[in-house]
Amino acid sequence: MQADIDRILIPSGQIAARVKQLAHDITQTYADSEQGLMIVCVLSGSIVFVADLIRHLPIKTKIGSIAVSSYKGKTTRSLGPALIGRLEADVAGRNVLLVDDIIDTGQTLRLAQNELAAQGPASLRTCVLLRKPHRAPRDVRVDFVGFDVEDVFVVGYGLDYDGDYRNLPDVAVLKPHVYD
Ligand code: 5GP
Ligand code: MG
Repeated sequence: MQADIDRILIPSGQIAARVKQLAHDITQTYADSEQGLMIVCVLSGSIVFVADLIRHLPIKTKIGSIAVSSYKGKTTRSLGPALIGRLEADVAGRNVLLVDDIIDTGQTLRLAQNELAAQGPASLRTCVLLRKPHRAPRDVRVDFVGFDVEDVFVVGYGLDYDGDYRNLPDVAVLKPHVYD
């Protein structure tokens, strides 16, 4: 796996520090909420991020999921997202925090936000680890952002290429030969 890495964009230590800060901001935001939080993670890219984030949240938190497909196999371009299966979370009347790994064109989060909003949550906010700021559209609101990154295809810390590299602890860029 290491032989496929061209460069590390965000090392694991930096991610860990930022995740702690995000958890602090999220905790402040929901400090007055008595019913706690419902986190809905977008599968599968956000699982590593969510796993780390929730362990820094000292508030009552339930976890649900929503599955959205955008890339199939060996592509690094979104083909337009589609919902896969049902929303696995009871979000009506809850304070919902949607969590994804990255916002690029924003199509995935727009779809997920619309799906959640239709279920009548008490509140709906969105958190992403990474944002490609030149591409993210203004109409898709994101409340918590870990890092802004340049417009390159990244892997690691939950993000994959063709299913691989999710277990890499850093966020990294692959060598060109991997795409051949
Ligand atoms: P969007 O719909 O915002 O264009 O893309 C969001 C989804 O595409 C993310 O949930 C993620 O799964 C995938 N994605 C976008 N950019 C990247 C990237 O640089 N690397 C990886 N591995 N996935 C990405
Ligand atoms: Mg995704």
